[in-house]
Amino acid sequence: MGSIGSNLQEVKRRIAGACGHAARPANSVTLLAVSKTFGPDAVRAAHAAGQSHFGENYVQEGLAKIEALADLRAQLQWHLIGPLQSNKTKPVAEAFDWVHSVDRLKIAERLAAQRPPGLPPLQLCLQVNISEEASKSGVAPADVPALAAAVAALPRERVRLRGLMAIPEPATTPQAQRAPHAALHALLRALNAQGQSLDTLSMGMSADLEAAVAEGATIVRVGSAIFGTR
Ligand SMILES: *Cc1c(COP(=O)(O)O)cnc(C)c1O
Repeated sequence: MGSIGSNLQEVKRRIAGACGHAARPANSVTLLAVSKTFGPDAVRAAHAAGQSHFGENYVQEGLAKIEALADLRAQLQWHLIGPLQSNKTKPVAEAFDWVHSVDRLKIAERLAAQRPPGLPPLQLCLQVNISEEASKSGVAPADVPALAAAVAALPRERVRLRGLMAIPEPATTPQAQRAPHAALHALLRALNAQGQSLDTLSMGMSADLEAAVAEGATIVRVGSAIFGTR
């Protein structure tokens, strides 16, 4: 691994290459740097190298890092990408900019009720169990339309439904990697055909970001390729 700065450059080069292949503009994909398990100094180094979106998996760890980096708060966008229990929604509604892991209405309702009025709306994605793994969190694909309709009906000044997120089952061949990403994109298209206006597909990680970009990812969540092995 190189430095955080050179790793970021390499990941951006991969994203640009994948966008080129897919005839998509390079700026159609946002890089979310997943800083879980790495300290505030790693985030500071990535910010100094031009990175502004950061993803955290664990609520307490994320809150502590946001607090430790309060001096940079206006320049950073913090995304919660890990599981969210209903008893933790209040500090998340108060501190984060995005939550990618909404998998039931109760969580979205609590986030909407607890989002402080002075802040911009919290940006939400529904986490979909796209590979339909018994052990994985996320809403089942068949239940996405009803959940999306209910979340989109919450007060828009508090929460804004932006799209879908998935963590597909690991696969090694490019075709196998692309299939679940294509399925998530198809779900998003179906929602938009039913009247939603969703613009976000949060999919693709260090190992499969090319497949995700080929299938329409707008946010790729990359940890180890930037910060190193955990
Ligand atoms: C850890 C994590 C990532 C980043 O994974 P890498 O393989 O390190 O790139 C992306 N998304 C979620 C939900 C994660 O938990």
